[in-house]
Amino acid sequence: MNPLILDGTVVAQAIKDHLKERIEALSEKGIVPCLATILVGNNPASETYVKMKGNACRRIGMKSIRIELPEETSTQELINAIEELNKDDSVHGILLQHPVPSHIDERQAFEAIAIKKDVDGVTSAGYGQTALGFGEFPSCTPAAIMSIINFYKIPLEGKHAVVVGRSPILGKPVSALLLNENATVTTCHSKTVNLPEILKLADIVVAAVGKPEFIKGEWLKEGAAVLDAGYNKGNIGDVDYESCYKAASAITPVPGGVGPVTIATLLKHTVESAERTSQLEVTL
Ligand code: NAP
Repeated sequence: MNPLILDGTVVAQAIKDHLKERIEALSEKGIVPCLATILVGNNPASETYVKMKGNACRRIGMKSIRIELPEETSTQELINAIEELNKDDSVHGILLQHPVPSHIDERQAFEAIAIKKDVDGVTSAGYGQTALGFGEFPSCTPAAIMSIINFYKIPLEGKHAVVVGRSPILGKPVSALLLNENATVTTCHSKTVNLPEILKLADIVVAAVGKPEFIKGEWLKEGAAVLDAGYNKGNIGDVDYESCYKAASAITPVPGGVGPVTIATLLKHTVESAERTSQLEVTL
């Protein structure tokens, strides 16, 4: 039987439809949710991602501010720019586009983002709160993967989820979110021995490796659900779609899978941040 296609464009549209009402409700209070993106240097892929995020904001009636800093920006100059945005009450979310030029201490810059504006869960506090299951915003791609799982009602409780990748914005937080939903989670990485044998035990596979077509269909258990976060040059995911399609019970396409839901999630987190501000204004 053909697998269920986990269509990210459908999930993203459902999220955005719900957001429109919330943006309208905020505008009645005179608040326009605003995402500030910061781009350092001239990485063409990053420029495209930042543009896509700004356009997505505008299409839904949100504001976006784009801060562009030159390649030679120092860590301190970047932190100063972030602190300005932290102080600006009209800004509800701050996104520092990864990667920054290698001379910048990216971790130090991420940590400068105020927790309440950390809509992509990049600070250590945001990550900690994600792992503990409360508080501010998880990273957008992990949250998007969970939205797809929930939308298509893929069972998690007691299931074995194998995450391939352990980066701070993807593999680690998605492992924590799956664990919080009572999956049994194995997180794999470049030093993992016998990855195909581990994947054979997986009911759910999350691919977050950054290597095109890395995960092969013959490594999968028959009927596994496959969520491919990978996005490589030429619109290619981290799973070998053709062979995984044959083994899986459900699979995300690339493009049109995790990507659009990630952008919708960024909008959702920014709107939530604006709503929290508006509640504060009412109670103070
Ligand atoms: P990353 O920081 O490069 O991390 C890659 C992870 O894969 C690392 O943990 C690495 O292990 C692991 N890995 C590398 N080779 C491996 C191997 N042979 N076997 C097992 N694990 C291996 O990448 P990332 O930022 O997490 O991104 C991962 C993918 O997601 C990329 O394709 C990226 O483009 C995509 N992405 C998509 C979205 C979206 O919105 N769809 C957003 C963000 C990222 P070590 O830790 O041991 O090095």
